[in-house]
Amino acid sequence: MSELRQDIVSGDWVLLAPGRAARPRFMDQKKGPRKSLPKSECPFEDLSLASPAMPLYQHPAGKDWRIAVIRNKYPAVEENGVPSHTFARGIYPVRTGVGTHNLLITRAHTLHFTELPAEDAAALFAVLQRFHRIAAQDDRVRYIASFYNYGPSAGASVWHPHYQMLALPVIPEHVARSLKGSERYFKSHGRCVRCDIIRAERSARARIIVENSHAIAMAPYASKKPFEMSILPKRHTPSLRDTPPAALRGIALLAQEAAKAMKRRLGDPDFNFFIHDAPLGSGDYRHHHWHIEMVPRVTTEAGFELSTSIIINVIDPDNAAAILRGEK
Ligand SMILES: [Zn+2]
Ligand SMILES: [Zn+2]
Repeated sequence: MSELRQDIVSGDWVLLAPGRAARPRFMDQKKGPRKSLPKSECPFEDLSLASPAMPLYQHPAGKDWRIAVIRNKYPAVEENGVPSHTFARGIYPVRTGVGTHNLLITRAHTLHFTELPAEDAAALFAVLQRFHRIAAQDDRVRYIASFYNYGPSAGASVWHPHYQMLALPVIPEHVARSLKGSERYFKSHGRCVRCDIIRAERSARARIIVENSHAIAMAPYASKKPFEMSILPKRHTPSLRDTPPAALRGIALLAQEAAKAMKRRLGDPDFNFFIHDAPLGSGDYRHHHWHIEMVPRVTTEAGFELSTSIIINVIDPDNAAAILRGEK
């Protein structure tokens, strides 16, 4: 059984999922460069081998699917119908790790996010939204984390392009902290902080990388990592779940543009993107402005970062944006 252990001092949750140690190549100490896996050895070519059950969804339905959703064979949280509960183990808090861990698989073995036809990139986000809505109906779920790992140093253990969605019974501290910040800003200014960021950055221009009518991609003013990007929907929307189809499509296409800029300008680095969505439950999250963060894996955290959580970033974000725009 997987469980969430809460650090008794910091409040941070750790998801302990011993079953995942069986997943492919998990303890490779030296990750090495990205290597494609022959199709004949790919676990996602025959989905009946990849998942204990039939695909949950196929887009379009039938044998010509381009995107499929399956349950992860090595789930980090377990979908077992029992309520999630917190209990104490001696002095330590624990919460049972119930939830959902789905994979979204795109059909072509070699087309990673930047190479997907634009229509598939848009459809991918529509399918993701559909499964966020489904997961949101489970009243045990408090937060849905969706992300993409590209390359071994970004944590991809399977070559075939896939995207993950984890529905959790807790709100991660990292997310809770960010929500507190946007709530504080909203209370003192009467406006959404990310709407203000968009306004300020669009007038300054320096840190904007690409933009379309639905979203902007920018290097955050206080970027923690070299070349990290925020992709912000232009229209204030608290949750991915509530985003209208046209806007979602525009955001997906812009996310793909941003990833392509990174690939082109930085020499195809490993990277992650993830979605910061509004949590579920009784809280008021109208001040939240959902967004995507994209982070190339070009640095390693060292002792200072691990000890202080203060990240030393050697690339000025204005410069990062200029490089990603192809001006340097
Ligand atoms: Zn494959
Ligand atoms: Zn906003």
